[in-house]
This record gives sequence, structure tokens and C-alpha cells, in this order.
Amino acid sequence: MSIKENVAEVRAKIARAAKESGRNAEDIILVAATKMNDAERVKEAVKAGIDVAGENRVQELLEKYEQGAYEGVPLHFIGTLQTNKVKYLIGKVAMIESVGSIKCLAEISRLAKKHDIVQDVLIEVNIGDEESKSGIPAEELEGFLEEAAGFENIRVRGLMTIPPIFGEKEEQSQIFCKMRQLFVDMSAKKYDNISMDFLSMGMSGDYEEAIRCGANIVRVGTGIFGARHYH
Ligand SMILES: *Cc1c(COP(=O)(O)O)cnc(C)c1O
Repeated sequence: MSIKENVAEVRAKIARAAKESGRNAEDIILVAATKMNDAERVKEAVKAGIDVAGENRVQELLEKYEQGAYEGVPLHFIGTLQTNKVKYLIGKVAMIESVGSIKCLAEISRLAKKHDIVQDVLIEVNIGDEESKSGIPAEELEGFLEEAAGFENIRVRGLMTIPPIFGEKEEQSQIFCKMRQLFVDMSAKKYDNISMDFLSMGMSGDYEEAIRCGANIVRVGTGIFGARHYH
């Protein structure tokens, strides 16, 4: 199937899942996870109507950015971010979805100030509590947000998570529901510079379930571009 057909199919599934959870398809943002797909393929996805391009690796982002791959859609950074690479992103990305440390936030805020912008970010939550080192553990999130509220040139727009891969569907739903509850809890608190607008969760294998559990950003790679070829 072509990228265009894939995007149409993903859109249809998003619409169905949104409806099942009492929302509209337009409330869900489709991020195409573009890693390992070249500029031409990314452009095809943009033309097919994705909402956002999501890139994982800074180097890859810079190459494709130069090639105009993302023209026409906002760009989100969705990968693990090293503090010393933040400087390459500021001014290019509409949102950094994967902030997982105060050190990283501080550097984003410092550089955003230099660029005279306020950078939108999501905080990555490690909800599965597995060995994966990326993301803030759920029980530390409240303290993290209190600290994050102090950074002038940052605006926290919500939460993001990459759940562990489970065989069991119920277990995966539980993780999404836990994340949803955390999102609701944090929304009830009022911090400066923080508005809980977005919950980013769900990838090709589970975005429909994520939407039914409250996600309003889904990040789909394989479902749009087909299997990635690692070499
Ligand atoms: C690759 C990736 C995705 C998309 O994964 P697929 O299973 O190919 O849909 C989503 N989020 C992040 C952070 C990714 O790295």
C-alpha cells in the first residue's frame, strides 16, 4: 500500500476510536514517526495529510530539515534527547515531546530565551517502570512539574509516554489508563507555564486503544511508512 493509502487507513481508524470514546477525529493529532524514512517519503506523508512530523534523532532531523522534508507541517522531536544536542532543535521544532530531566529543561529554556521564544514541551513519563531509563517515574511527576513551572521560556503542554511492549492487551490498557489518570490528576493542579492540553501515547500497534484511553496525540511510524529496514 502507498503512504497515501496508509494515512487514509490510519485516519479512518483514528476516527472510529475517537468516536468510541466520545470525541471527534479532529481532536486527535496524527504525528508521523518518520525515523529511517528519507525526505521524499516524509514529503509524501505530508502531502497525504499527516498533522505533524515526528523525528527521533537529531542528526537525521537536521539532514531532512535541510532537504525541506517537513515543509507544510509542524515538527516534533520525539526521541531521547541529550542536553548537548538541544541547541540544534531550538527554532526548528514546534514541540519537544520527550523531556525527561530538569537539566534538559534548563537547557531548552536557556536557548529558547536566546531565540526569544517560549518552547512548547511534553514531559515524558516512565509509566511502565521497566528498566528503560527514559522518562520521569509517575510518583516523581508532581515534584518535577513544580520545578518545571519555574522556567520562563518553557511551556509544558502535557505528557508523553512510550509504554513497555506487552503481549497482553489488558496489561497495555491498564498502562494507558494509569497514564490517563495521571494526566487528569496533573490537570487539576494549577502551575505557572503548565497547561495539560496533550496526552501523547500510542504507536502503530496500539494507537486505537490509546485513543480510547484518552490520548489526543498518537505517533505512528510503521502504520504509515511500512516496516523499517535497519542496516
Ligand atoms: C518509532 C517511534 C514511534 C512509532 O513506532 P511504530 O511502531 O513504527 O508506529 C512512536 N514513538 C516513538 C518515540 C518512536 O520512536
